[in-house]
Amino acid sequence: MNRKLLLAANWKMNKLSGEAREFVLSYAAKLAESSVATVLLPPNTALVAVASTCKESGKGPVGLAFGAQNCYFQSSGAFTGEVSPQMLVDLGCRYVVLGHSERRAIFGESDELIGKKVKAALDAGLTPIFCIGETLDERNGGKLEEVLTRQVRVGLELVSDADLHKVVIAYEPVWAIGTGVVATPAQAQDAHKFVRSLLAKRSAQAAGQMQILYGGSVKPDNCFELMSQDDIDGALVGGASLEVESLLALHKECVRASK
Ligand code: PEP
Repeated sequence: MNRKLLLAANWKMNKLSGEAREFVLSYAAKLAESSVATVLLPPNTALVAVASTCKESGKGPVGLAFGAQNCYFQSSGAFTGEVSPQMLVDLGCRYVVLGHSERRAIFGESDELIGKKVKAALDAGLTPIFCIGETLDERNGGKLEEVLTRQVRVGLELVSDADLHKVVIAYEPVWAIGTGVVATPAQAQDAHKFVRSLLAKRSAQAAGQMQILYGGSVKPDNCFELMSQDDIDGALVGGASLEVESLLALHKECVRASK
């Protein structure tokens, strides 16, 4: 199965719109043409700047796309502070991150809520980057497979088997996010293989097509080995995506690892 690698840059709550604009112009100017797409995920306040600079850059959505870090599951209404999938589509977003561990841990998002968001994003035409992953206690307690099974089952239960292939999964062990402690390539590969086996129970065809990204302290110097694993199809990167040169280096490593 020939799956393309995807490099997703989660800027979290960083960058003002002017900084985002400068970043995109500089990154796009130096970005080599390849089969590895970059997806920029700025805070909502910088989405307009990123949308217009991506357009100006002429790289096109295949090389350089963008999306948001979250959305709600309703299309409009009395939901103060929220944005809908349709609002993101209106700005030209192609992707939306859902179920990031920071949303789960800090903002109390449940598997059920995330599942509704995944379905709503797909219905609006967005590609959800659906995040899953275990805490250190869960891993040490032998609960890795149980946690991933629950997250995948509930998070994708409203998605039809026919639509499953449209979802991108990001396996992000919570203990590796922002800590500098990266999963070993073997730990990551094992988890990805397990997740793919869960997806295959729904649809073998979709499981073969679906991109499963790894996230958690990915840096230019550990990227190649991770991306070279059979079931790892890209990276969701936080800290190392904030500087142009670092993201370019990550992109280069993804291209080098492209299968
Ligand atoms: C993330 O925010 O999804 C992430 C993986 O962060 P970091 O790369 O900084 O660990």
